[in-house]
Order: sequence, then C-alpha cells, then structure tokens
Amino acid sequence: MTASTTQQIILTGDRPTGPLHLGHFVGSLRNRVAYQHDYRQYIMLADAQALTDNMEDTGKVHRNVVEVALDYLAVGIDPAKSTIFIQSQVPELAELTFYYLNLVTVARLERNPTVKEEIRLRGFERDIPAGFLTYPASQAADITAFKAHVVPVGEDQIPMIEQANEIVRRFNRLAGRDILVECKALVPEIGRLPGTDGKAKMSKSLGNTINLGASEAEIRAAVKMVYTDPLHLRVEDPGHLEGNVAFLYLDAFDPDKAALAEMKAHYVRGGLGDSVVKKRLDLVLQELLAPIRARREEFAKDRGQVMQMLKEGTMVARETAAKTLDEVRAALGLSYF
Ligand code: ATP
Ligand code: MG
Repeated sequence: MTASTTQQIILTGDRPTGPLHLGHFVGSLRNRVAYQHDYRQYIMLADAQALTDNMEDTGKVHRNVVEVALDYLAVGIDPAKSTIFIQSQVPELAELTFYYLNLVTVARLERNPTVKEEIRLRGFERDIPAGFLTYPASQAADITAFKAHVVPVGEDQIPMIEQANEIVRRFNRLAGRDILVECKALVPEIGRLPGTDGKAKMSKSLGNTINLGASEAEIRAAVKMVYTDPLHLRVEDPGHLEGNVAFLYLDAFDPDKAALAEMKAHYVRGGLGDSVVKKRLDLVLQELLAPIRARREEFAKDRGQVMQMLKEGTMVARETAAKTLDEVRAALGLSYF
C-alpha cells in the first residue's frame, strides 16, 4: 500500500537494554509483523529512554541498538515497509517532551500504574531519576510526533497510552484545534507473557526470559526450568492449569490447538507428567525459534548494512517528527522568524 494522508500510522518501540524475548514477540512483535503490510509503521529503538535507568552502563544501550535491530529483521520486520529508527538521533522528540512536561503533573506521573510498577521493580523508591519518572511524557512525544493512530503493545503499557492521550487532549484544547492525534493501544489476546520462573511478566530486568536468538541448548535448558504446578508431584495426580507457565506458553505458541486442548484435559484428569508437556513445549519453541535464529545469523553477517538501514530510517523519521514539531511550536507561540 502506498503512503497517503488517510493511511493509518503505527508507532512502537523497545528499549535496547538487551536482546528481545518471547514476551516482546507475543506482546508486540507479532502484531507489528502482521500490521506492517496495511499500515505506515515506525519502529523506534528507544536508546535515549533506556538511559533513564542505565546511565551507569551506556555502553550496554549502545551495543544493543544493532542487536535489537537484528531481532526485528529476524522476526520478519521488513525495512521496505517499516521505518526503523534510533530515538536519540531524532532530537525533535526531546523538544516535544520538553513542552509536554508542562501538561502533566508530578502527582499524575506518580499515579501511572506502569511507572509505579517499574519503580517498585527497580527498588527506586524516592531515589528515582527524574527522567525515569517523566518517561510517560517522552513516550507521548514519540507517539504524537508520528501522529500514530495505533500502538501495538503488551498489556502493561495500557496506562502509558492513556496518559499520552490525556496529553494530546490537553494540548489540542490549549491549541484550540486538533493538531495532535489520539491513539489506540493494540493489545493481543495474550497481553502479558509470564516469565519462565512463574512471575507475572517475562522481562529482561527479571532475568526470566527466553530470547529470540536463543540457541537450541538454551531453549532446552530454559524449558526444563519452566514453572509448572508445584502440587503436581506424581504423574497420576490431577494437575492444575492456572499459573502453569508451560501451558501458558503452549497457549501462546502451539499451532495445534486441538491437541493442546486434549493434553490439558489429560493433565487436569491426572496421568500426564510434566515431562511430556515440556517435551511438547520444547518442540514447539524449537520450531518457532529455529528460522528466526537462522535469519538473525544471516543478517548479523553484515552489521554495517543494518546500521545503514537504521541511518536511512532515522532520516525519514526525523523529517516526520520535524513537521509535527513545527505545528506544535506554532501553536505554542514559539515561531518567530
Ligand atoms: P526492561 O526490563 O528493559 O524494561 P522488558 O523486557 O520489560 O525490558 P520492554 O522494553 O519494557 O521489555 O517492553 C517493550 C514492549 O514489549 C512493550 O510493548 C511491552 O508491553 C512488550 N512486552 C515486554 N515484555 C512483555 C511480556 N512479558 N508480555 C507481553 N508484552 C511484553
Ligand atoms: Mg519493561
């Protein structure tokens, strides 16, 4: 589909703090790959945003930019259809954030459930970097700069989208016309993939991930550790599905839904051991990740070419963001010459 003014726009991104994992795949990547054909899609490597809690390790963020870009290419994001760019190289986003910070209160930022949860996870309490607390304003800048209609995200990001829309409404009211665009979160049916350890979310910071580039042996080892039903001690005992990560993963990735339904019934009845379930899970994950890993290795042979693709994408993104910034400045009375 060719770009036109009526075409719907997608904006998403990831913090390049480590390789992408199955949580990203379920929460956002699958939708991005599916939607890139019919939407104008921008995908942002949020390196500047990653610094909000990684100032002590900027090298990690720098290194992971190309790694995450490789993950995108490996899962089937097509740079001919999607514009992939680096956040820090689009300074217009920082300027938009600067203005939006005046449209949110500290109290509202502190109430944002996503921010609250991330603060708790990192043990910041009151020693939270100001940049981290205010990142909803920066995320609003990213989304609105591209006038995105749709943002494919995991369930944990819903409060961020709500807050971005509040900023949009407030800005448009002040401007007296609809300059910025409200967006919708596109959340998949499984909006949050749990970690291999049974924790509610698979996340880099929790170290409970299976990465998209995982080797065969790494997948096998991770599946062995996957949390199941602690009460299911003997094969003949009835098993439980609630909180059983092995089955939650099969729900997310096993293409054979009929066989899975049968396996679940058998497990609940009793007589089906965890080892059989995990054998199936290992097979499903190996089949899912083998082609992704192979494509990743192919693209990784020429990192220079990947960087060139990012450079071109960043130039395109910058042009779009600059147009929005011009409108925003004008509405704020910040145009002089
Ligand atoms: P970090 O620990 O650096 O915060 P993360 O693993 O939590 O990393 P994010 O970069 O915060 O991942 O998330 C990027 C995108 O992927 C968001 O849209 C988020 O909702 C989605 N996502 C991440 N983890 C999961 C998950 N376990 N289930 C569903 N979606 C997820
Ligand atoms: Mg996170």
